[in-house]
Amino acid sequence: MGVLRLKKHLFIGGQWVEAKEYRPLYSPYNNELLAEIAHADGQDVDAAIEAAEKARPVMAKMPAHQRAAILEKLVELLKENEEECTKLLALEAAKPWTTAKAEVARTIMTYKFAAEEARRIHGETLPLDAAPGGEGRISFTIRQPIGVIAAIMPFNFPLNLVAHKVGPAIASGNTIVLKPASQTPLTSLFLAELLQQAGLPEGALNVVTGSGAVVGDRLVADDRVKAITFTGSPAVGIGLRNKAGLKRVTLELGSNSALIVDKGVDIDSIIARTVTGAFSFAGQVCISLQRAYVHEDLYEEFVEKFVAQTKTLKLGSPLDPETDVSAVINPKDAERAISWIEEARESGAVVAVGGGRDGNIVEPTVLLHVHPKQKVSCQEVFAPIVLINKISSVDEAIGYVNDSRYGLQAGIYTNDIYTAMRAAEELEVGGVMINDIPTFRVDHMPYGGVKESGIGREGIKYAIEEMTEMKLISIKK
Ligand code: NAP
Repeated sequence: MGVLRLKKHLFIGGQWVEAKEYRPLYSPYNNELLAEIAHADGQDVDAAIEAAEKARPVMAKMPAHQRAAILEKLVELLKENEEECTKLLALEAAKPWTTAKAEVARTIMTYKFAAEEARRIHGETLPLDAAPGGEGRISFTIRQPIGVIAAIMPFNFPLNLVAHKVGPAIASGNTIVLKPASQTPLTSLFLAELLQQAGLPEGALNVVTGSGAVVGDRLVADDRVKAITFTGSPAVGIGLRNKAGLKRVTLELGSNSALIVDKGVDIDSIIARTVTGAFSFAGQVCISLQRAYVHEDLYEEFVEKFVAQTKTLKLGSPLDPETDVSAVINPKDAERAISWIEEARESGAVVAVGGGRDGNIVEPTVLLHVHPKQKVSCQEVFAPIVLINKISSVDEAIGYVNDSRYGLQAGIYTNDIYTAMRAAEELEVGGVMINDIPTFRVDHMPYGGVKESGIGREGIKYAIEEMTEMKLISIKK
């Protein structure tokens, strides 16, 4: 199986289907042509929904051990093809080799969790006689698959975030129409090959590549699609929800994640990790560390050591295992990042390191004294830019963190348990990481945001709740 077969077709009903139109896919790093990708039209999307609908009863009736076995087989195939998956991620997303390898390892864990969860989807018994009139009954709930699920994906974790939708959907007996981001279709198409080898029935997974607006509009308008699970930008996600009517909608959206560093913290022990949190995959991570609020007692030391560590990062080709930071996803995003840095600088921010670009690589940039109304603070930068501001108390920092449209995850380093617990309760986010960066995630924890960071939770068990209907059964004795 070659990594790249130049022309990439649609995957519908277990077949590779030719589209009427193909669009070139270029490397974000050096603009090299990677493949020609099918550009689906409305009819193709209809065919994919039709195939998923046809496979629905097959998946719904499949016993749990068989669904688990398919996912276990996929885990084995991913392990065998680890190198190929890493290469595809490095090519299509310009993800540095080591970071891409880590994503493949996480993807394997995610499907392992999905295989395990497939075996333990169950309901509960209910004491109906707790209410007058409920006597003489045995009652319990079951969870049934919701049906056809449309999964719309972002570019930044093309393998593992797909796993967060495909894994729980298969585990819970659903069928899927998958729309990868236009820049990163290769890993999804490769996944389709692997799942076919793993024995997934035809039509249970369909991959439709093409324009987000065309494919998305068709998916959201079709009554056969029972749920939309979307990961991407708030603007697109909110637009989808507004059109979704009574469909179940899960939205995993953006953020401007923040970290608080309290007085008394040992700076040396947290510097490497905080720098990784800010610049991993060039900051194109939904929980990337974008805002650091550091206690005034430690501020100078933190900035000095953070900047020194940032200067050690190696910029370069995603295929080089030594590279820490490579290109951002497209030239427009590189331009946008630089213009936001300039805007902050003009309003009085200090550029402590970085601020420039080389082609599509934006230098890891540290900004100081940034006003909260600057875009680099109040919007999602999604580029290798972090601001470090001085605070005089944790309470002041909590105010800054919460002064945001977003609320995905936040982190606080502190030695004081009372401060930690106060922050945990008061921070308006989906997850608080005490003594860690906001960027921490393992794949079975409940994950999702509040405010414009989204609705619903992923992390296999929690995604399965979103992808199943609870049914009550009451037996009168
Ligand atoms: P994006 O531009 O919103 O694209 C996401 C997906 O939506 C792509 O497949 C895109 O297709 C599609 N799309 C575009 N317009 C659409 C429309 N009108 N209707 C339906 N679908 C449409 O996001 P991105 O730039 O790929 O990803 C970055 C964003 O994802 C960031 O905001 C990041 O924070 C967020 N994110 C969140 C999480 C989380 O778990 N909370 C995780 C990762 C990323 P095309 O590619 O064809 O345009």
